[in-house]
Amino acid sequence: MELIEACEVCHNKVFSYQKYCRKCANPNKRYNPNHYNSYRKRSEPTKYTLELAKALYSMGIEIELEPEIWYTSCNFYTPDILVNSNFIIEVDGQVHEDLQVQKNDRIRQRALENSGYSVYRFKNQEIVHSLAYVIAKIKSIINLSKQKQMERNSRDIPRTKIIELDVPEDKRLSNVSEGFIKAYAIALNSTLTSINSWTGQYFKEFLSQYNPPPTANRCAMEKLIFVVLGLNLRSKSDRDNNYPNIDFEHYSALFNQCVQIMNYFFGKIGEIELKNAFNITATNFIKPRIAQNRLVLIKDYKGIVSHINDFNKHFFKFGISVEELEVKVECIGELEKIKRSLEEKSRFDPAIISQRQTKHFRWLNAWLEEAKAFQWLSTWLGYKNFG
Ligand SMILES: [Zn+2]
Repeated sequence: MELIEACEVCHNKVFSYQKYCRKCANPNKRYNPNHYNSYRKRSEPTKYTLELAKALYSMGIEIELEPEIWYTSCNFYTPDILVNSNFIIEVDGQVHEDLQVQKNDRIRQRALENSGYSVYRFKNQEIVHSLAYVIAKIKSIINLSKQKQMERNSRDIPRTKIIELDVPEDKRLSNVSEGFIKAYAIALNSTLTSINSWTGQYFKEFLSQYNPPPTANRCAMEKLIFVVLGLNLRSKSDRDNNYPNIDFEHYSALFNQCVQIMNYFFGKIGEIELKNAFNITATNFIKPRIAQNRLVLIKDYKGIVSHINDFNKHFFKFGISVEELEVKVECIGELEKIKRSLEEKSRFDPAIISQRQTKHFRWLNAWLEEAKAFQWLSTWLGYKNFG
């Protein structure tokens, strides 16, 4: 149950489930905590974010609190403040010191930057102790961007930076269930005899037998393509290692075909959607390789570094990359999961944690300890110096 009202201060629309107006940061007088919107239900801005937002609003700067930014039609983010429709201001508190949160922030920032937004981060403490300084910085960013825009206009360069992934409400999320998408992908994949059949025309012909065809929905196609790609993951022997690596050269060639396919159906926006989606999940992609019973098992430090480098070598051209530290953070979580599951098993049979099984993780532990030691990571987070 949700109601749209007009904000008493700025007269913009405000939903009854929102505690604060998104346009002026003032409290919503008709806020009703019992009203909510299912998938949009989310946390309210912190007092630091509100303080900054109110200050910017009072200076006549256009803001939007926690806007929905759809970086693919399957997923959206809600950054803290959007300024002039193109700058994102993130206000970080203590929680951002945590490694996992930092990694998510970094990945989110990359997706937003891919979509054409600039992201600037401030800390709670900066807002408490030097609000005037923070505002001066934001103003200088705005001026700089106006200047750049004028230069572009005078030289007749079209504005290409902001790529609004504005997904119409009825086109958001998939119109086909996960189960069906998987089934379609497997059926389609069984007919893909060579890379030459990875075309928009062919995908369209094959998928038209289904009703509704997933080709009409970006999110459905994004999901379908990642299933098909996953089915075509293969290994290759690396002459530097005596065990196989993932064949990223092959995988990126197929990915390139998929970029063309998304373009065929949806134009440039489809390409961006696919790249954004892969950017978000790319670190996840290497993580499972440390577990047993996978296509490729990464067995040592050299192996993981060579996977990361090889991945970046083949995906850099798409604007997709992974950083060692991001992979580490993923691996810390994965390793804890593996350990828990081994401990669980060993309760029934202590012999199960054999010498062989634990030996496999010794190098990984050492590699991860390095990441745990560096909690600062602020340069990695991309705190920008624009003073
Ligand atoms: Zn308002």
